[in-house]
Amino acid sequence: MQAWLLNKPAPVESNPLSLERVADPVPAANEVLVRVTACGICRTDLHVVEGELPPRKSPVIPGHQVVGVIEVTGSNARKYSPGTRVGIPWLHKTCGACPYCLSGRENLCDNPEFTGYTNNGGFAEYTVANEDFVYPLPEGFADLQAAPLLCAGIIGFRCLRLSGIQRGGNLGIYGFGAAGHVCIQVARHWGANVFVCTREEKHQRLARELGAVWAGAAAEEPPEKLDASIIFAPAGELVPPALQALRKGGSLILGGIYMSPIPSFDYGLLYKERSIRSVANNTREDGRDFLRVAAEIPIHTEVQVFAFTQVNQALNALKHDGIRGAGVLQL
Ligand SMILES: [Zn+2]
Ligand SMILES: [Zn+2]
Repeated sequence: MQAWLLNKPAPVESNPLSLERVADPVPAANEVLVRVTACGICRTDLHVVEGELPPRKSPVIPGHQVVGVIEVTGSNARKYSPGTRVGIPWLHKTCGACPYCLSGRENLCDNPEFTGYTNNGGFAEYTVANEDFVYPLPEGFADLQAAPLLCAGIIGFRCLRLSGIQRGGNLGIYGFGAAGHVCIQVARHWGANVFVCTREEKHQRLARELGAVWAGAAAEEPPEKLDASIIFAPAGELVPPALQALRKGGSLILGGIYMSPIPSFDYGLLYKERSIRSVANNTREDGRDFLRVAAEIPIHTEVQVFAFTQVNQALNALKHDGIRGAGVLQL
């Protein structure tokens, strides 16, 4: 098959992924072989490709918002039959035995595997995944529209849950890419007023189109105090202004897997029971719940489509804020 390999992390401007011919993957007993039809581009792919996340497998095929069709099932895989359309997310596998897995917090598993990082992912014609960690996809979503739901959507949903935002509450979203543009739709559906801070004018426009009551610059102070905020941008310098914008008792959720250093700030910004909490990965329950809600609303994903041959261009566009909504590779 054809696949995009990362042999060594490097700045995306040097186009570090190379299209190579490799052997088709073979599903293990509990795995399914999936023919990839679409794969979303995520900021985490950038962190893998550029090495902010230390290499765990080399070479590796990145990509962890995989949509495709099951072609072959492993000898012990019985949940789905060939022909079923499924999604493969970032959470590739958990150990099922550590204290976190045993207490309903498998997102914090001590021995996790991640698609497109510790295991090969979806920037390829075929990939394999454990049948217990793939999701059947709601029919209302075309392949290209479904891809961004699998990481941007699910992680944004977990952030929203942990934010504790209530109907009628004010929610801040910092950074308005793939995750932000899905998250706002769930937040609006739940009856929250959404305030969006993002540096690109075109992203501010999209935010208003999707129902933001206000959209301003990256660190601008919204016109009202916020009950909760989520920072999707990987920029630690946004933490103090985001705290500044919170009401007493408000929570600040950090949605990224990587963030630049957070500058020191006065305790007064945090005092009065404001809290800061990061989000790491997601549980399968988050994924199932989100996909159900996404189909009910229904979520509309704004996608910018790239040909399979344009992976490096897509990553460059993502790094330089050039994607409206979510970038998706079409196979
Ligand atoms: Zn575990
Ligand atoms: Zn992701």
